Amino acid sequence: METSVPTKGIVFDIQRFSVHDGPGIRSLVFLKGCPLRCRWCSNPESQKKDKQIMFIDKNCIHCGKCVEVCPQNAISFNPTFSIDTSKCDLCGKCVDICYSKALNMTGELHSVAEVIKVLKKDNIHYRRSGGGITLSGGEPLFQSEFAKELLKECKAQGWHTAIETTAYTSKQTLAEVLPWLDLVLLDIKHTNKEKHVEYTGKSNERILENARFIGEFGVPIIIRVPVIPGFNNEISEIEEISRFAKSINGVKEVHLLPYHRLGENKYNYLEYEYRLKGIEPPEREDMRILKETVEKIGMQCKIGG
Ligand code: SF4
Ligand code: SF4
Repeated sequence: METSVPTKGIVFDIQRFSVHDGPGIRSLVFLKGCPLRCRWCSNPESQKKDKQIMFIDKNCIHCGKCVEVCPQNAISFNPTFSIDTSKCDLCGKCVDICYSKALNMTGELHSVAEVIKVLKKDNIHYRRSGGGITLSGGEPLFQSEFAKELLKECKAQGWHTAIETTAYTSKQTLAEVLPWLDLVLLDIKHTNKEKHVEYTGKSNERILENARFIGEFGVPIIIRVPVIPGFNNEISEIEEISRFAKSINGVKEVHLLPYHRLGENKYNYLEYEYRLKGIEPPEREDMRILKETVEKIGMQCKIGG
């Protein structure tokens, strides 16, 4: 499941100057690959661990240059644009020649040193604001060796480190990365196994067990709950998650992240099906009631990350 490349990883974005996903001003490093397929995922380009080409239909001027330049004859317009993935070797020539930016490569192989070089640009902001680095994805531990080496190097720079994780990984992987982490932002999506399987493609058993493991390790945890109408937005469901959160060592806060549809277009660009079509984000008042629900269980709660 995890790549065997020790010090290089496929990164699909580095976002600077974030004030979310941990304390202070942070840089977020997004790694590709995820074992889950959450229906609400707003970064579907993160799911596969390899590089991918996204086609943005509205930008295409039908110049045909991509077809001409492709050495593998992998591109056709019959009748709509498609890439034969059995032929494409991800050389990127079509992306480079597409001036209208209809074709975009997601993911680039980087060494730890290359990523650190980018992160160092904001060293002063991390120090002044008490910020640092957050690994995100995808599931950053899908490329566990790279994540570990990157975190080690961040600690060597003296930076605060955090990870946003599904915790769908092995205990051995967790034991290797936790010594290099100051904060774990842990997604708990549902306490019901069947519902978890239905909406994410995987059982929650390993996740719930790993939450306890992380708690026992002693790294502070913030539990994050994506609030998805029709999946987990009932009061009883949020109560269950809050009770679980309260039972874990080191958890003081629960963050409720309201569902949004910002990633929906990307499903078209990747020719994926968007399975939450027509679902509306929760109302502000509904979120307020859910926040109160968490607080009644005795946990601090915030709406948003
Ligand atoms: S090069 Fe870009 S704009 Fe031209 S046909 Fe290909 S995808 Fe469309
Ligand atoms: S990435 Fe290379 S092989 Fe793949 S479609 Fe583009 S030009 Fe062809």
